[in-house]
Amino acid sequence: MDSYNIKNTRTISAVQPFHKAIAKLADSYGVEIVRDQVHTCANELVIKHTFFGIQVDFGSFDDTNAELDAFRLLMGRPIPKDLLVVASRYDVNVIRDPTRYKGYGGAINSTILLGNFDSAYRKEILTFFHELGHILINRNYFNYFNPIMKLTEEALAWEVGIAEARKLGYLHEQELSGADAAYINKCYTTYLISHSKINKEFIESVYMEASVDDGFHLNA
Ligand SMILES: [Zn+2]
Repeated sequence: MDSYNIKNTRTISAVQPFHKAIAKLADSYGVEIVRDQVHTCANELVIKHTFFGIQVDFGSFDDTNAELDAFRLLMGRPIPKDLLVVASRYDVNVIRDPTRYKGYGGAINSTILLGNFDSAYRKEILTFFHELGHILINRNYFNYFNPIMKLTEEALAWEVGIAEARKLGYLHEQELSGADAAYINKCYTTYLISHSKINKEFIESVYMEASVDDGFHLNA
């Protein structure tokens, strides 16, 4: 293998190419992989959040299997193929982002980010469709501009997401199971809690503005 010197103090190997299996796995996670032996230690993987998604920087590894194992351990399960197919129908990307999201997900523009759900496929499906719901309502309806509307958006993203999941045959039952509903309630409640102070302040600020305007009566 070629090598080159940095300031004549140490020699590092030229870029180790990635094995096909690793490139394939990266594809199924929807992430970029980069070899960076200068800023990354031996046998180390570093996740970087970039504008377009996530990038995993690989240090030098002893062998391909060690590299593959470390990648799997860091990222968890590949994104299920069927969810990738569903996402492509809506022109949406899905990527696995285990550092920012653990057991839940997010949506940025037209990209769904899924945390690591271990083997809880059901929660992964619900989360996937909820995030798809966010993308669809923001694409087709409106952008939410105040903290109370944010709570509306969260509820609507569940409604729209669940409707899409039903349409595509992911949910056959009329009613959601107790476990599904508990998961959705838990996710929604985190917003209720985190937004309660913001909403109180927002309501007060709107009320103050309204009460200085004589022509506007909140209690009318
Ligand atoms: Zn949400």
